[in-house]
Amino acid sequence: MNDVKVAVLGSEGVGKSALIVRFLTRRFIGEYASTSECIYRKRLSLDGRQLSVELHDPCSQPCEGKSTLNEQIHWADGFVVVYDISDRSSFLEAKAVVHLIRELHAGGSKSVTSRPDPEAALFLVGNKQDLCHMREVSREEGQHLAAEGRGHFYELSAAEHYQEVALMFSKMLHSTSLVGKG
Ligand code: GDP
Ligand code: MG
Repeated sequence: MNDVKVAVLGSEGVGKSALIVRFLTRRFIGEYASTSECIYRKRLSLDGRQLSVELHDPCSQPCEGKSTLNEQIHWADGFVVVYDISDRSSFLEAKAVVHLIRELHAGGSKSVTSRPDPEAALFLVGNKQDLCHMREVSREEGQHLAAEGRGHFYELSAAEHYQEVALMFSKMLHSTSLVGKG
């Protein structure tokens, strides 16, 4: 059994919980609890291999026992960094998160993680594509940031695109399990 730990990061309201719930249950329910931090655990078979998957959904608001961003980055083997294409500030936060992941996983003496992986899988997701009439972040900017972070780029909608959401998570789990340290 291969252990895969993925942190889903990004500012409050970008749709992190919506994406995770959509992937795990196929459903989009609209409102998600944001007052507790949770780790979803699931066993999946991917390309004939059994994976034990942990998806970390951080709480957006202050909550008891809340982990810090550094701790979340330290814990995970792979990252889905989410922003909302209709919210410029969420893109700026995603940019800061992408840079922090690469900095903390860079290895060498500055690294704060005990098992740095400069090539840790990183997927940048521009969510809420259904709101493209209110777009504040171009697709090119997203692609550019993903390339800067040596990551993959997806623009999709948790609300409307189940297939794309499932494909994105499958690829993420696939990439992470290849470098997963179990
Ligand atoms: P989180 O704080 O990042 O976990 O964000 P949530 O998953 O709680 O979503 C925040 C709000 O955005 C909720 O009202 C969701 O229904 C909404 N939302 C999430 N994904 C989408 C999407 O793809 N399109 C639209 N229009 N709304 C979305
Ligand atoms: Mg949430």
